[in-house]
Amino acid sequence: MLTYDILIIGSGGAGLYAALESRMEEDLQVGVLTKVYPTRSHTGAAQGGVNAALANLDTTDTWQDHWFDTVKGSDYLADQDAAEIMAREAPIVVREMEHWGCPFSRTDEDKIAQRPFGGASKPRACYSADKVGHVMLHTLYEQGIRHGVNFLNEWQVLSLLHDGKRCQGVTAINIQTGRVHTINAKAVILATGGHGRIYWTRTSNALGNTGDGTAMAYRAGLPIKDMEFIQFHPTGLRRTGILMSEGARGEGAYLLNGLGERFMSRYAPEKMELGPRDLVSRSCETEVREGRGGPEGEVFLDMTHLGKERILEKLPQIRELCIEFEGVDPIDEPVPIKPTAHYSMGGIHTDINGQTQVEGIYAAGEAGCVSVHGANRLGGNSLLDILVFGKRAGKHALEYARGASFTPVSTEQEEKDTRMITDLMDGDGSSTIADIRRAMGNLMAEKVGVYRNSKDLETAVSELADLQEQFKQVQVKDQTKAFNTELVSALELKNMLDLAEVVAGGALERKESRGAHTREDHPERDDENWLSHTMATLGSDGRPNLEFSPVTITEFEPKARTY
Ligand SMILES: Cc1cc2nc3c(=O)[nH]c(=O)nc-3n(C[C@H](O)[C@H](O)[C@H](O)COP(=O)(O)OP(=O)(O)OC[C@H]3O[C@@H](n4cnc5c(N)ncnc54)[C@H](O)[C@@H]3O)c2cc1C
Repeated sequence: MLTYDILIIGSGGAGLYAALESRMEEDLQVGVLTKVYPTRSHTGAAQGGVNAALANLDTTDTWQDHWFDTVKGSDYLADQDAAEIMAREAPIVVREMEHWGCPFSRTDEDKIAQRPFGGASKPRACYSADKVGHVMLHTLYEQGIRHGVNFLNEWQVLSLLHDGKRCQGVTAINIQTGRVHTINAKAVILATGGHGRIYWTRTSNALGNTGDGTAMAYRAGLPIKDMEFIQFHPTGLRRTGILMSEGARGEGAYLLNGLGERFMSRYAPEKMELGPRDLVSRSCETEVREGRGGPEGEVFLDMTHLGKERILEKLPQIRELCIEFEGVDPIDEPVPIKPTAHYSMGGIHTDINGQTQVEGIYAAGEAGCVSVHGANRLGGNSLLDILVFGKRAGKHALEYARGASFTPVSTEQEEKDTRMITDLMDGDGSSTIADIRRAMGNLMAEKVGVYRNSKDLETAVSELADLQEQFKQVQVKDQTKAFNTELVSALELKNMLDLAEVVAGGALERKESRGAHTREDHPERDDENWLSHTMATLGSDGRPNLEFSPVTITEFEPKARTY
């Protein structure tokens, strides 16, 4: 049986930062196990920036401003103690990245350059043209190699193991061989990223963002928090959902409706295009609903006035994506866009050190929910979250693993998982993975999207239950063992269906509008009844069981949000 003192699942920014922090002890075995090759993790797709109040551009910026912006942006659902930690520690982790060689863009005085971002009162997003996630991920991976981190690449975790009190490890399939293994670990850090792919047909997320770790934790009895809050990024390409970074608006791009009007003056007269994402996405959808959209229900991102030179210097990747995927060159014409499912505010419930309710099990990054983003994340705060809380989880896991002993584990789950895979290979085949996935994506986009109401949500809940039944008839037709990507997809689909049920169920239950969750039938925020986190656990009937817990408020009393 494989054993690790600390096993980190996922090699995005959160997993890699946790690995660097937790391998400070020579005697401890630390491993990073990951479904894709490390540098292909979704962190590498991040474009626009990472927030830290460095005050390089606006010298009046402070971490307290960042803290307040984050809490206000969250529609007061963020836990304020956690958001304070993130804002305070931001300058430390960003400088740490710089010292490790992360090539940030520079100001004329050679300081780290910063740009304005949505919902931020000062320009504080540090960037590297429009490829900041790419340079961060590569810097962290290089440091991991340099410090001798052990990588298990192209392994997919299946189940999380614990004895009710303490972590035992995981089961995982080696994608190269098709064999299931039990891995015994004192501590496991789940850094498996978000679940934007539950909106399969309308998302900015990588194919692998299927919420595996979150679904695994849920099935292992751990509570998952605030799952109804899904961020729609206002500017996804019209036909593919591929992201046009907020950095474009940070550089000065406008939003236009089908009539050529800069419509944000109606919704956020002060901040205009740099309002927070929930507000800007609602505004885009409203324009289309009220008949002011383009012919395919889109609005437009206009960068033409920025000029060729600035676009080529600051937004080169954005331009390439527009040309490749929409056939439009942003130097010459406005780009057609629609809101796209982008970020999972919810995730595995943890404390400020990434700890879950089971000793030795941690979560960090987009898979976790501390919560610093509450009902709506600000742009540039996720790359920050993965650094700050990846680091904290790694540090805490190291302290824990130093003192803990291994909890014995049997191969029972390994046998169950192997049988489950055999059943998938032997299924009757009357349903296909592609059909279920497409139906789930369309259902989520249409019924659990930017605007929600009880009728649509009830339909979503009931149709998702049908899709769960259909999943039982799926057959993996590729019967080979090595690199069976059809099997990988089937396992991911099961995770997505489980999480989609929690997202839709939570959205139906929450009878108010807050942040990214907008109920047409309950249009107001209701602090009296709903200033609380949703905790979902798997019920004995296989459906989510919802409970609510208080939000930590330390400094800022909730008030109306205006921009
Ligand atoms: C297009 C795009 C642009 C973005 N731009 C920005 C930005 O400019 N600023 C910002 O702050 N945020 C941005 N975000 C959000 C931010 O990039 C992500 O939230 C963040 O990078 C997530 O990092 P992570 O480490 O939690 O997970 P990820 O980087 O998603 O990594 C997840 C890891 O988990 C592994 N994994 C998953 N399932 C399994 C399994 N079953 N077994 C083994 N391994 C598994 C994967 O292999 C992967 O290594 C953007 C997101 C997208 C999609």
